[in-house]
Amino acid sequence: MTTRDFHTIIIGSGPGGSTVADELTQAGRSVVIFERGHNHLIDPAHPDDLMQVFSNDELKYTERHFLGPDPWLEPRTFRQSEADGDRLHVGEVNNLPATVGGGGVHADGKLPRFREDDFRVLSELGPIDGATVADWPLTYDDLEPHYATAERLVGVAGLAGANPFAPWRSSPYPMPPGPPMYAGLVTSEAAGRLGYHPYPAPTGVNSVPYDGRPACNNCGFCANFGCPIHAKGDPVAMLRRALRTGRAELRADAFVSRILVQGGRATGVEWIDRDGQTHQELSDDVVVAAGAMETPRLLLLSGFTNENIGRNIMFHMQTYVLGEVPFRVHGHIGRSVTHAHDDHIIVDDPARKAAQAAGLPWIKGGFVEHASPAHVIAEAKLYPWGHEHRRLMRDSPMRDRLLGFCMQGEDLPQATNRVDLDPSVRDVRGVPVARTTYKVHRHEIVASQHHGARLRSIVQEAGADRIFLATSPMATDELGTVVHSPISMLPISRHVAGTARMGRDPKTSVCDEWGRLWEASNVLVADSSLFPTISGYGPTLTLVALAIRNVRAFLGRQAEVKR
Ligand SMILES: Cc1cc2nc3c(=O)[nH]c(=O)nc-3n(C[C@H](O)[C@H](O)[C@H](O)COP(=O)(O)OP(=O)(O)OC[C@H]3O[C@@H](n4cnc5c(N)ncnc54)[C@H](O)[C@@H]3O)c2cc1C
Ligand code: SF4
Repeated sequence: MTTRDFHTIIIGSGPGGSTVADELTQAGRSVVIFERGHNHLIDPAHPDDLMQVFSNDELKYTERHFLGPDPWLEPRTFRQSEADGDRLHVGEVNNLPATVGGGGVHADGKLPRFREDDFRVLSELGPIDGATVADWPLTYDDLEPHYATAERLVGVAGLAGANPFAPWRSSPYPMPPGPPMYAGLVTSEAAGRLGYHPYPAPTGVNSVPYDGRPACNNCGFCANFGCPIHAKGDPVAMLRRALRTGRAELRADAFVSRILVQGGRATGVEWIDRDGQTHQELSDDVVVAAGAMETPRLLLLSGFTNENIGRNIMFHMQTYVLGEVPFRVHGHIGRSVTHAHDDHIIVDDPARKAAQAAGLPWIKGGFVEHASPAHVIAEAKLYPWGHEHRRLMRDSPMRDRLLGFCMQGEDLPQATNRVDLDPSVRDVRGVPVARTTYKVHRHEIVASQHHGARLRSIVQEAGADRIFLATSPMATDELGTVVHSPISMLPISRHVAGTARMGRDPKTSVCDEWGRLWEASNVLVADSSLFPTISGYGPTLTLVALAIRNVRAFLGRQAEVKR
């Protein structure tokens, strides 16, 4: 069946797609949002009634894939390089939820802005062999007003001025930080004593009632869980605004299998419903916000041929440094992370020296989350059965005696790191799945080793006697890791970017400087696929701000076309 009821089709209801829906509907346009996953979030007919199905249930989220995707039905594939053959692994590959709200629903939402120099890494620091480092086609100053809008829309709790490395800002955070976690206070004090600069992490979680939703009650089931009281604002705040206008339809369980293109313009999409029936929906424009792994998959399924599609995928190299302390830290209570520090993002003298010693021009680390790990079932799975199990669970070293850090290390873009279509693995609908080919650059390994050692000294200062260090990905030849299963080679960051990079030259980019496909100017990409570099910060606030900037320009452009 073919229908044509809307100005714009939006593919994906995560932070990117929901932001675009909000902007377009506020401007008077009608939109339909296609979402392949189920709707557990919002009643489209009564957007002020948020659903009440999220719970503090570890099995539901981490074992039974409540928010999808089920990796048996919608697998992805992975290999490190072409030398591995078609694939090393089939199943879960850095999956974000497939559900209304996308990854925003179960992220714990640290939402820092990128720094000014993150937009011009090539000019500031220079090239690195083997990496396709590039400047962004915009500056921090261009994006700053949209960052401010994004923070207001989502509702970011933070403290302006608390982080000496933060970029300039035109307005304060819309609300103050929430209560600190005890473990975060202990590690912050230790970091401060050693000359680092910890601060309350900017978080998309209400610290006070905001936008008609309550303040967080620090239930402790935050990262990887839906919020039972909807204190997380991203992207429910934007989705709700869009639906309230009456100009947005939310179509869940609707998988877009192809963008229809005629004469260099998109005319609509082909989509598959929950019963496997194929339909067409036509429209003036199409917005692709399927996330940085599914967006290139869809572009390739649609027959776009730009050689850069899927290339330069970036994940963040995560470095975990955790220490066991002889006192209880109550790590299972709170918002997963309440403190951070940015010192490792700065290319200082010690970092320069470490780079030179390794034959690199520079290294950059990343945003350091002061983390307290593990939930009950995750902990129980680690221990042997019997009497010892009972003792360990009572003492709870994983939940209650561990503190430390996760550094989101900047991951350099490389043309050989890419998403393409797997030659033979298909999803439950019979559609080719995304295959990732990915190996970290030497830069990430050297940066992890250099900054990992610095983080270790902070954990020691905090009173830890046993300290563990791990990375994601865990196994690369240069790390010399003993575990060499394909799973250990997978990055697990859930921060993905770069697969439809924006730029000024169609030979080196997929989208123009406003996020429009070079191959079809009425197709806007609105997710972190656009990022030329990923920085050491989580991508979400930046992709929301970028979506606001680009869709506003898109509206202007469309108006010009029609006049
Ligand atoms: C546990 C966890 C913690 C995180 N913490 C942070 C953090 O602290 N800070 C941070 O910045 N980021 C964090 N993230 C990452 C964050 O969730 C993502 O950056 C963000 O969700 C990306 O938004 P998006 O709209 O681009 O894509 P997504 O959120 O992935 O949304 C895309 C949507 O499109 C749908 N879709 C895909 N393909 C199709 C198709 N063909 N047809 C129809 N629908 C389709 C998907 O089902 C999905 O719902 C975290 C993620 C997780 C899982
Ligand atoms: S910690 Fe707060 S924001 Fe996170 S799920 Fe619990 S109530 Fe919601």
